Amino acid sequence: MWEIISKLYPICRSITGNGTRETLRIIGQHIPLDIHEVPSGTKVFDWTVPQEWNIKDAFIKNAQGQRIVDFAQSNLHVMSYSIPFEGKLSLDELKSHLFTLPDHPDWIPYRTSYYKEDWGFCLTHHQLDEMSDPEYEVSVESSLMQGHLSYGECFIPGQTEDEILVSCHVCHPSLCNDNLSGIAVSVSLARQMSQSRKYSYRFLFIPGTIGSITWLALNEKQTPRIKHGVVITGVGDRGPFTYKKTRRGDAEIDRAFSHVLKHSEDSSQVIDFQPYGYDERQFCSPGFNLPVGCVMRTPFGQYPEYHTSADNLDFVQMESLVDSFRKCAEVLNLLEDNAVYVNQNPKCEPQLGKRGLYQSTGGESHKRFDQRALLWVLNLSDGTHDLLDIAERSNYDFETIKDAANLLVKNDLLKPVAPHDGNSRPVCD
Ligand code: ZN
Repeated sequence: MWEIISKLYPICRSITGNGTRETLRIIGQHIPLDIHEVPSGTKVFDWTVPQEWNIKDAFIKNAQGQRIVDFAQSNLHVMSYSIPFEGKLSLDELKSHLFTLPDHPDWIPYRTSYYKEDWGFCLTHHQLDEMSDPEYEVSVESSLMQGHLSYGECFIPGQTEDEILVSCHVCHPSLCNDNLSGIAVSVSLARQMSQSRKYSYRFLFIPGTIGSITWLALNEKQTPRIKHGVVITGVGDRGPFTYKKTRRGDAEIDRAFSHVLKHSEDSSQVIDFQPYGYDERQFCSPGFNLPVGCVMRTPFGQYPEYHTSADNLDFVQMESLVDSFRKCAEVLNLLEDNAVYVNQNPKCEPQLGKRGLYQSTGGESHKRFDQRALLWVLNLSDGTHDLLDIAERSNYDFETIKDAANLLVKNDLLKPVAPHDGNSRPVCD
């Protein structure tokens, strides 16, 4: 994960352009990736794929001809989607195009102007304080023209057409937590899930907002196959793991994350859906209402480094990335194993003793199974409760309930019902 992050960090990305293409090319060195190019001007629901933006160089020079703000030093210095500009401006004229963070005078802010043609520079407040010349030379050597929006898609076919969607954004320049952490964890999950599973997996590497809108517009017919989904965003900071529920609020993936986090010793939180945040906004728009949640650590906007140059390689913690990966992988494995079973001996308890499944005395040092877990699974496996329900109801962790179910299947006391549709939660009392 660290290799990917450090390689991607210097690249100047935006919602379109060569930086995003280069990012997708590097991701494609780690997992099989189909790269799609959607022409500028394509109508996607209420939006239009914008013109493609690229940039070579940009600077502000003082009266001595020195570059005092230089794109080559940091790609955050130029407002993303700045239109080309050359000219000499007074300091007062220039100031309306400058952005700083007075509360964090050493940090460069991150600004964009995707849908309004403008140019601008972002700089530290200290840099602004030092500007006292009457006139400055400004150059933005960028291009905004007909081109494409690029996105990457890694599809791993499973035993069924039912899909799990994992999506992350690839449109931020040198920002590490907001963008690169999500890419790194998604790539690792794609590698982890690369053998054939029950579900098919679709990993999307898309520019934020316009990317998910474009993908949904081009793939609308396929969306009913998405049984569970998650958007992975800032998952590398020191904050506690956070899961934001789907718009439905009780989707299987909501129950799965809540369960895994409840049984983990680390601090974590589950928050309700809100219609702001990342691409879950589009996946959960009312016309789709897909069961897509969002994982992060500290929610966006709630850490001062958010959208500034301080969201750098030092801000992202390896332990947080690993922990985020593990929790997501645990949830995907849970979804793979979750199923509904039917007790084959539902009239009174089956006689466990004659099957070697009854522990008459406690105190065995190496228990092969948990007696009470067997009884919970037998009692609730009436064709309406999935294993996750049983785990929740009994307060056992999912693994223990799954092991109990497997043992009962081996002893012909339990049978799975037809493939479980993750979207229609069994009716529970
Ligand atoms: Zn962002």
